[in-house]
Amino acid sequence: MTSIVLRMAYVWDCPACGSKNYSYPVPAVFEDGEQEEAYRFFNNLDDWEPLPDDWEDMRIDDCPEVVSCSCGMVFDAVIDGAEDISDDD
Ligand SMILES: [Zn+2]
Repeated sequence: MTSIVLRMAYVWDCPACGSKNYSYPVPAVFEDGEQEEAYRFFNNLDDWEPLPDDWEDMRIDDCPEVVSCSCGMVFDAVIDGAEDISDDD
């Protein structure tokens, strides 16, 4: 049997046409120092614990900021359960 490689994706329903859509994650973009902070968070490492030599090679994905539907509509994307931070800080 042929194997299929599954990749993570975000699923969302278009509020305009009702279509179910899938959007791929995008590589996270970090400011100075944020990548190490994110690596430690996702790997449950305290600040004093040493990092592996290849830690900077680990890709950390984020959700896309904007998604579009085949009907032509484009939307700002937020994670389910996360506050919409686009309106104010
Ligand atoms: Zn649509």
